[in-house]
Amino acid sequence: MLTAEVALIGGGIVGSSIAYHLTAAGCRNVLVIERESSPGKGSTGKSMGGVRAQFSTPVNIQMSLYAIPFYASFEERLGYPCDYRPQGYLFCATTDKHMAYLRANYQKQVAMGLKNVQLVAGDEIRGRFPQLRGDDIVGGSFCSTDGFVDPYSAMTGFMLWAADHGATLLRNAAVASISQRGGGFEITTTREVVSARVVVNCAGPWAAEIARMVGITLPVEPLRRMLVPTEPFDQFPHTAPMIVDMSNGFHFRPESRGFLLAWNDPEETPGYKTDFDPAFIEKILMRAADRVPVFENLEINPKKAWAGFYEMTPDHHPILGESPEALGFFFANGFSGHGVMHAPATGRILSDLILTGHTDLIDASLLNFSRFAEGRMIHETAVL
Ligand SMILES: Cc1cc2nc3c(=O)[nH]c(=O)nc-3n(C[C@H](O)[C@H](O)[C@H](O)COP(=O)(O)OP(=O)(O)OC[C@H]3O[C@@H](n4cnc5c(N)ncnc54)[C@H](O)[C@@H]3O)c2cc1C
Repeated sequence: MLTAEVALIGGGIVGSSIAYHLTAAGCRNVLVIERESSPGKGSTGKSMGGVRAQFSTPVNIQMSLYAIPFYASFEERLGYPCDYRPQGYLFCATTDKHMAYLRANYQKQVAMGLKNVQLVAGDEIRGRFPQLRGDDIVGGSFCSTDGFVDPYSAMTGFMLWAADHGATLLRNAAVASISQRGGGFEITTTREVVSARVVVNCAGPWAAEIARMVGITLPVEPLRRMLVPTEPFDQFPHTAPMIVDMSNGFHFRPESRGFLLAWNDPEETPGYKTDFDPAFIEKILMRAADRVPVFENLEINPKKAWAGFYEMTPDHHPILGESPEALGFFFANGFSGHGVMHAPATGRILSDLILTGHTDLIDASLLNFSRFAEGRMIHETAVL
């Protein structure tokens, strides 16, 4: 039997960040349990890697205010790269209602200490990106410290640093059951039985299955998201930010010598669907060419497109902290499309809560599991 002070179930970017933060805070004997032969095969390896502080709820803004400087100094702190590219996020509003929404968000973001965010006029956007169809763009909001990271590199950096400082990664070990034993937990995996004082659920889209093992119904559902990379394309600048067309949610960013195209298909339904639907290409290209007419010339190789999961909660906010029903069992789940950008803050928050019972990074009660039963859901509308 293996013993651990803290066992983290799932070695994606969230489990890896928690392993890093716990280890950096002095916790010895952290064990990450991962069912795959190598981490990153869950949502983390499928992500678009966008990081932004342009949110509408204070708690999401606070988590990003920790994450973005963290990613900016990742290599300095950890000695591994995360490929942070501060190219910004540009939200383009096409209605006065959307512009009023961006203005209200901007005021909140600035009040909370976000620098480098600015409202921009339609003419500025048209001037900077004449390739955009700009006739209906009334304005927008841009933050230059938003941008992208390489999620796989960040996850690897967190895990390698933690392993260099005493944490252990147990691969090929699928958790099959968890039982509560004498103030701790016994975790049966396909490789080893693990005894741990504290368990953290970091199982991404599979979080509800892990919670069920301790008798908890966790409101986290997998929702398929598809991304379409293009072949090399030089008719749009590669220094561009993530550009979001608020009229329909289509967004894109430079990736390698081409672009990465994303759109939230409202017809998608929850479930473990991992196949990429070729019909999605036509749907997204229609929106791409509508906003960026030169995108009519894009070349797509459908074999390079992929699908992964968002881990959705009813209020699009993560569930963080200790279970009120199974003490010692913690959640780090339900990032609803923001798990990469919120992994650094999640690591810090979980490490604080496990080691001291308190965190000063956010008001942790806002994101606890009890909010659903107590009717305290928080709504984030800036979900892409
Ligand atoms: C197409 C797409 C685009 C995205 N774009 C962005 C973006 O731009 N910005 C952003 O911040 N986020 C984005 N996300 C979301 C982000 O990728 C996720 O929120 C994040 O990766 C979640 O990390 P995780 O570690 O919680 O989950 P995962 O990476 O899924 O890791 C969970 C791990 O748990 C393991 N596991 C599961 N069950 C068991 C078990 N029984 N036993 C042992 N191990 C188990 C899995 O093998 C997996 O490795 C995107 C997601 C997708 C799919």
